[in-house]
Amino acid sequence: MSAIDSLPPLPEVIATHQLSARKSLGQNFLLDLNLTAKIARQAGDLTGCDVLEIGPGPGGLTRGLLAEGARRVLAVEKDSRCLPALQEIADAYPGRFEVINGDALEIDPLEYLTPPIRIAANLPYNVGTELLVRWLTPKEWPPFWESLTLMFQREVAERIVAQPGSKAYGRLAILAQWRADARIVLSLPPGAFTPPPKVSSAVVHLDALPEPRFPADAAILSRVVAAAFNQRRKMLRASLKGISPDIEAHLTAAGIPPTERAEQVSLEAFCALARALAKA
Ligand code: SAM
Repeated sequence: MSAIDSLPPLPEVIATHQLSARKSLGQNFLLDLNLTAKIARQAGDLTGCDVLEIGPGPGGLTRGLLAEGARRVLAVEKDSRCLPALQEIADAYPGRFEVINGDALEIDPLEYLTPPIRIAANLPYNVGTELLVRWLTPKEWPPFWESLTLMFQREVAERIVAQPGSKAYGRLAILAQWRADARIVLSLPPGAFTPPPKVSSAVVHLDALPEPRFPADAAILSRVVAAAFNQRRKMLRASLKGISPDIEAHLTAAGIPPTERAEQVSLEAFCALARALAKA
């Protein structure tokens, strides 16, 4: 019998530890172990990898990651009510699972992890985008992680993989596709979760590229796309005028017509603009 079989079913874990879902913590749990195993398999070959999981909750995805052969799983969970349930998993997988009780936005996981590192999570919706942007925008590249396998609301997942000219295209698409290969690998209806959220969800898998697709400074590119898409209906010469007094000249140097709107501009052109601004 494998360790996973010796653990109780997740609805029983929820009942035993009285883990009633809290909206303020974005708690929509996955209680079907076949589904959590399927998500864990999307994270790639975990053998020999440390895995960082954010928000393990009752531990459904955690069990999948351990059963898929992760060398070690480090989980960061804000809700201390989940700790006894997670301890049962730690006992079933001695030396392979550690939990930090804290806020993922405040903890530096690198203190605890050894490369190669993959990240997998059914993210709390209220911090998911912020974590993704942090993981995508370190100054140096490649980052500490090799891949991200993350659950988002479907609409956010579509923004990550969007192409120019589409409504979903914006800051997330540019930051994700600049430094990673990103694709939607699974779609889940609200009924897959307990309690069901109002909207559908999707799992996005991102593989870090060895180097960014086009050269640019991460901080400048982030600032430019944030400003450009903050007022997406405006011409770039208007939406970016706070970035530089000579923005028209920089747009022209980057080959972008100053009257263009952000959603028509390719990733390559935004990187050229970031380079033109860096020279100024
Ligand atoms: N992974 C579990 C599953 O799939 O059933 C739970 C997913 S639930 C969508 C999100 C989890 O993130 C909850 O367990 C919640 O307590 C936790 N959480 C919320 N905010 C957090 C934060 N800032 N840092 C760490 N964990 C957080």
